[in-house]
Order: sequence, then structure tokens, then C-alpha cells
Amino acid sequence: MVNSSSSYLGRLAPSPTGLLHLGHARTFWIAQQRALAAGGRLLLRNDDLDTDRCRPDCVAAMLEDLRWLGLNWDEPLLTQSERLPRYRAALAQLHAAGLIFPCQHSRRELAEASVSAPHEGAAGDEPLYPPAFRPALGAPLPPLDAAGWALNWRFRVPDGEVLAFDDGLCGPQAATAGRDFGDFLVWRKDGVPSYQLACAVDDAELAITEVVRGADLIRSTFRQLLVIRALGYEAPAYCHCALVLDAQGERLAKRHDALALRTLRAQGCTPAEVLARF
Ligand code: GLU
Repeated sequence: MVNSSSSYLGRLAPSPTGLLHLGHARTFWIAQQRALAAGGRLLLRNDDLDTDRCRPDCVAAMLEDLRWLGLNWDEPLLTQSERLPRYRAALAQLHAAGLIFPCQHSRRELAEASVSAPHEGAAGDEPLYPPAFRPALGAPLPPLDAAGWALNWRFRVPDGEVLAFDDGLCGPQAATAGRDFGDFLVWRKDGVPSYQLACAVDDAELAITEVVRGADLIRSTFRQLLVIRALGYEAPAYCHCALVLDAQGERLAKRHDALALRTLRAQGCTPAEVLARF
């Protein structure tokens, strides 16, 4: 698969929060096909930062299911929880540039004061951050000392700016900061970065050239583009794959054990039969 003259570098980024299902299989298969077509390489990233939802036993299951399906990636496996110093450095850079602010409001206060974004996706994307909760622009920030690292920090989005990218599968995409998405979480007071920050840092620092992932993350892409730009990196290209739906038309979730790769395999399904289902 490796062609040293190709600069294509993709990644598979599953979260070990449950068993991989048909939807993951489809997205990861497309990612591998695109890497193969470009004669490039693929990395595997274990998105294990959400300590409330990630389960260590799911990591081994995830790797086994991916191998069973016929996916190949370059070693070593990247594990986000081992990259915390990188995310801290990125947060410090955003802090020095005055692009973030601390948010001490509880989840409940936020939910009560938030307005929904106009096209809020069924994926339960985060609601718009209430502008009234924003500190004044240029107000001094608390330092990133022991107390500072134990705060929730948000990225202040450039209100009114239209962000756009040309998706390799879904075509041109655009969203207006402050209208379609608001100030988003980059650091959690329990000492871990948000998905948006960690993903942006990894894609940028590892010089990923193309991100292939589910269409539920299109809006996240606009947030990540802002972080990547703020950190001074070039953005990768993006391809968002249509989600696989269940018989009721709902997107698959890790609770859909009937469509988990493991279940299909236990029922005697071969990888080729799984791939033939989409
Ligand atoms: N780990 C994320 C998820 O499973 C995907 C991250 C990404 O591909 O950017 O939803």
C-alpha cells in the first residue's frame, strides 16, 4: 500500500466507547480505499479522551474488528490520552493569542440560556453559546496556572465570518461563525481537551492530508478549521461519508448491537458480506 512518492496521509479515528458497527465499517473502508487510490498511508488514532464514555476493553475489540474487516494501518497506534502535553501546548498558544476564554457556567445554565443553531443536526450538535455569557473582548484572561488548567475554556468564534471548505464527497460546505455554531469548548475542567481541540491538533501536527469521517461531523469541521488556523497550520482536505441508517431511518449508534461487526461476525457473516451491505 505504501508508495513513498505519495504525500497522502489519512487516519482512522474510532472512539472506544462501544462496539464498532456497520456505519464505522463503511466510513473506515472508504478511508482505506481513498488512501489506497492515492498510494498513501493511513494512521490509526485511538480517541480515548472522554474518560466518562471510553472503555479500555473496547480498544482491543476495536482493533480486532478493524483487522477482521481487512483494514491496515501504519504502526504505531496513536493514543490521544498519551498526547496530553501536545494539547496543553496548543491551549497555551490559543491562550497567549487571546482566542479563548474561561467559562464557569454550569451545563444547566448553558442549556437554559442557549439558542439552537438554525440548522442544528439530528446528531445533537452543541447549541449556540449564549453571547451574553462571553467576557468582553480583550478582558484579561486568568493565567494557565494550576487553577487555570482546572477551568473550562472556550474558543471565541469570529462572529459573522463565513467558513467554507470543499468536501471531497459532499461538495462545497459553508457555515457562519456565531450563527451556525458558537463559542465551543476546547478544554475541560477535568484536565482534558475537548474532541475539537484534540482532533484539530492531531490532524494538523501529524500532517494528515485528508480526513475521511462521518457526515455527523461536518459542523465540527468548521470549528476545527478555526483551531487549525489559529495554531498556524494548514488544514487537511475533508471527506464526510453519508451515515448508515437503521430500518427506522435513525443513524446507527453503538447501542445498535444487532449491527455491530462482532454480532454480524458471530452470525457467520464474512467481511465481504459486511462490505456488500452498503
Ligand atoms: N472519534 C470520533 C468519533 O468516533 C471521530 C473523530 C474524527 O474522525 O474526527 O466520532
